[in-house]
Amino acid sequence: MLEAYTLYSGSGGNCIFVSDGETSILIDAGKSQRAIQTALCSLGRGLESVSAIFLTHEHSDHTSGLEVISKCHRIPVYITAPSYANLVKADSCLSRVAQPQDVVYQVECGELKIRSFPIPHDSAQNVGYIITKGEESVGIATDMGYVTERIASELSLCKWVVLESNHDVEMLKKGPYPYYLKQRILSKGGHLSNELCAKLCVHLAECGVEQITLAHLSRENNTPDLAYNTSKKALEETGHNIILRVAGADTIVKVID
Ligand SMILES: [Zn+2]
Ligand SMILES: [Zn+2]
Repeated sequence: MLEAYTLYSGSGGNCIFVSDGETSILIDAGKSQRAIQTALCSLGRGLESVSAIFLTHEHSDHTSGLEVISKCHRIPVYITAPSYANLVKADSCLSRVAQPQDVVYQVECGELKIRSFPIPHDSAQNVGYIITKGEESVGIATDMGYVTERIASELSLCKWVVLESNHDVEMLKKGPYPYYLKQRILSKGGHLSNELCAKLCVHLAECGVEQITLAHLSRENNTPDLAYNTSKKALEETGHNIILRVAGADTIVKVID
């Protein structure tokens, strides 16, 4: 049986734990080793039991804990070649454990199958992941400038999905960010708004996705209630009553229930 938890989510750092009880992996390590270890301990786990780390992209909110983790633990770190070239210095601890991959790749870890797919974002490369055990899959897609057909179809095959609901467009436009940053977030290389997330939620519910966890919320340009209500309303208006929840910035949220 698969289990998954968001340990941290948002611009302050991202880390997701996925396990089948035998094999455990992390998607991203964008918090300090201590913070990640603390979160894992509260689940009765630890970094010692993590078999591999899979990175979405090289931005620091997804990678800030990696150097120290790589120094203390020899956990293989899977990363796409473009993000590797951008992130990994030759003399770093990370260079000893990094496993550069094609943008689309598949790895088996115990009985878990982990498959990547491309996501448009202003990094060297960004990918989402589908993690499968037997017949069941959990899909993860964040840091998404816009939703491609590929993203929608990959996620539609999952039972559980972790999906970016980054900002409310009005809050962003009226908010304190400088103009260039607002343009960056709203661009095709930026982040997914609540409204576009809600549309994708409806599509995924129509395809049979059972539970969606909204993730990577902006602290300045969104609130958990706003993100939740935008997708909930769109789902209710189209007659879908799937389980919807919001990942906490610093609180652990169960993705599979
Ligand atoms: Zn990013
Ligand atoms: Zn991010």
